[in-house]
Amino acid sequence: MKLYNTLTRTRDEFVTHEPGKCTMYTCGPTVYHFAHIGNLRSYIMEDVLEKYLRYDGLEVKRCMNITDVGHLSSDADTGEDKMLKGAKREHKTVMEIAQFYTDAFFADCKKLNIKKPEIVVPATSYIPEFIEMVQGLLDKGYAYIAEGNVYFDTSKLDEYYVFNKHDVEDLEVGVRDGVEEDTAKKNKSDFVLWFTKSKFEDQELKWDSPWGIGYPGWHIECSAISLKNLGEYLDLHCGGIDNAFPHHTNEIAQSEAYLGHKWCKQWFHILHLNTQSGKMSKSKGEFLTVSLLEEKGYSPLVYRLFCLQSHYRKSLVFSWEGMDGTKTAYNKLISRIASLKLDSNDAVEEEKFNALKAKFKDAMDNDLNTALAVTALYDVLKSDANDATKTALIADFDTVLSLDLIEEAKKAQAAKADAAKAAASGELMIVCGSDGVDESLKAKVEGMIRDRADAKKAKDFAKADAIRVELSAMGIVLKDSKEGVHWTLA
Ligand code: AMP
Ligand code: ZN
Repeated sequence: MKLYNTLTRTRDEFVTHEPGKCTMYTCGPTVYHFAHIGNLRSYIMEDVLEKYLRYDGLEVKRCMNITDVGHLSSDADTGEDKMLKGAKREHKTVMEIAQFYTDAFFADCKKLNIKKPEIVVPATSYIPEFIEMVQGLLDKGYAYIAEGNVYFDTSKLDEYYVFNKHDVEDLEVGVRDGVEEDTAKKNKSDFVLWFTKSKFEDQELKWDSPWGIGYPGWHIECSAISLKNLGEYLDLHCGGIDNAFPHHTNEIAQSEAYLGHKWCKQWFHILHLNTQSGKMSKSKGEFLTVSLLEEKGYSPLVYRLFCLQSHYRKSLVFSWEGMDGTKTAYNKLISRIASLKLDSNDAVEEEKFNALKAKFKDAMDNDLNTALAVTALYDVLKSDANDATKTALIADFDTVLSLDLIEEAKKAQAAKADAAKAAASGELMIVCGSDGVDESLKAKVEGMIRDRADAKKAKDFAKADAIRVELSAMGIVLKDSKEGVHWTLA
């Protein structure tokens, strides 16, 4: 498989340190607020990558941290603690906030069919490991203590800006934001490994350390957690593109200084999901969540497909029109799959199966081209293969795409069978065509639709019309068919 590597700036053949096995590290969420759908774009693409590596035969060991301490509102070492900001906003303790938003994050992931990594480590559970690593860096001469904090000394490295040609100007972002410059640093690019001198006095979470009571810098988290769980040679490190600098740059600096050798060869970065007005960001406070998508009637899997339809290395602009288009495409896809005989006992046609599977693999092997992989799915439907072959291929691709294609198609088939049965027995069939409709609203609407049908039967057309008008005022659109009544939210 070829994957773009931010470190070499080329598409490299992905080779793991140990044949057949892959260690994969993912920078996890900062749990001071809900994840926005931009964050989740990154986790969807990482999920697809993990699943494809497994599909391709690799044994993947994946680890993710949960940033529940020490992540500042600027990516530099300045600004307010994001966790503390969340706690103040919601009048809760920092740990309550962390637990609540960690659970919320995994609940969103579940809805999006994002598999939970087998190893998930909250930063606050690894304080001794961080201290050990910081001490190691001090012992090796890569770190220094100044005005109470421990800093990494970037001047000790042959190369610090490993990903691209950043310069010191980039490090002044925090300063331009009106945050005081840290005069204790020897070099502008140095970063904090351990704080004892907090920029904010009411820091809640603090631990004892050889350098005084304090808390870890953000970057040390991922290095220490990764080294402990995945070993000295990491195969693959992932994150959104904003993580490349300074976060991943600092992770590389401290990990390689500590280990005395190269650490991770392959860096996978996902470009951002933007709104039409610019970057979606948690710290701006205005962002879209999975719950909001559901409230607006979009299944989370429609958003997953929206992400899969574009390449991870292109920034993606979110729009409701785009979501509408994807929703239509998803529903059409499901109904095309539902028109297959999904439980066919025919033999799978091996040659056709292999040829169509090769298209899917070629797309994914080509720098995880999920858009082409989705096209390969349509190629299956268009092909002259028998239904057993098509069903087997769709199920096979969906182990990676995770769009619940067979399950949803089976549901659609069952609904159709129910409708046919109801029509044959003269019973009124009511089908709701919108996702995520509140159960009490559903019950109310269905009751009104039945009353309308009864009124029609009794030839009380004035009453039937009045009910339709009332439903329309409630934002309900009705479509009568010979099977029954289909309704949606306008
Ligand atoms: P955070 O919770 O802020 O640490 O971010 C979690 C993950 O989401 C990181 O990998 C970020 O790089 C990524 N991320 C942040 N904003 C976006 C965005 N707008 N689009 C895609 N990924 C993002
Ligand atoms: Zn990280």
